[in-house]
Amino acid sequence: MIDTHCHLDQTDFRDDVDAVVRRAHEAGVEAMVTVAVSADSSENMLRLMAGKPGLFAAVGIHPNNTHEAQPGDWDRVVALVDRPGVVALGETGLDKHWDVAPFELQQDYFDRHIRLSQQTGLPFIVHTRDCEADVMAMLEAARSRGPLTGVMHSFTGGSETAARCVELGMYVSFAGMVTFKKSDDLRRTAATIAADRILVETDSPYLSPMPLRGKRNEPANVLHTAKVVAEARGVSLADFDRQSTANARRLFSRMNDVVPI
Ligand SMILES: [Zn+2]
Repeated sequence: MIDTHCHLDQTDFRDDVDAVVRRAHEAGVEAMVTVAVSADSSENMLRLMAGKPGLFAAVGIHPNNTHEAQPGDWDRVVALVDRPGVVALGETGLDKHWDVAPFELQQDYFDRHIRLSQQTGLPFIVHTRDCEADVMAMLEAARSRGPLTGVMHSFTGGSETAARCVELGMYVSFAGMVTFKKSDDLRRTAATIAADRILVETDSPYLSPMPLRGKRNEPANVLHTAKVVAEARGVSLADFDRQSTANARRLFSRMNDVVPI
């Protein structure tokens, strides 16, 4: 299993990140992508990964951190893309829910991540909150310039949007929300995703899946989300695990430069 999205540099993990990574491996999570939210966080990820097999990083500036980015921060992110263990760009995207950064600034940074992805071939990780149409418009525009490779992280949209994302070249990833009691619609959507484009993630330390809701989330818990998605799709956990792990290794192909543990 692979946790395709976690934030292991958050202060929640300050005291026990080694134990968190060990528990993930013990639970059968062979790899995890820890995702940056700023230039500082991107640089921290490289330090965090050192000596931890199975830990990989995404570097980038989160839409809700764009207003704090200093001149030169984007160049610091760009300088990291060729470092060993960096497998993706992000997280990026758009957020009208928290509305902390000017929307044009969010769009500017989203555009930078997409263009850098198209230049480097590194996949980009998309955060969408209350602005699906804006995100889709930018993906459509980017697709008209060239191929897209990336993932809609913690997807909460409908099956039509998901299908269009897949047509555009994107993968679709489900987090703990899909396990919640009221998430019947989201489980129905998860059942419709093409088998070769579906992923799972924890988004740790946020949004623990059932039955751990309310506690700090960690990568080992991706198992609970995988179980629910497998059930929704009518396949065995073993089959879903094999398929979604292969998908993650195809999308984050730089993982394969490192021998799996
Ligand atoms: Zn995230």
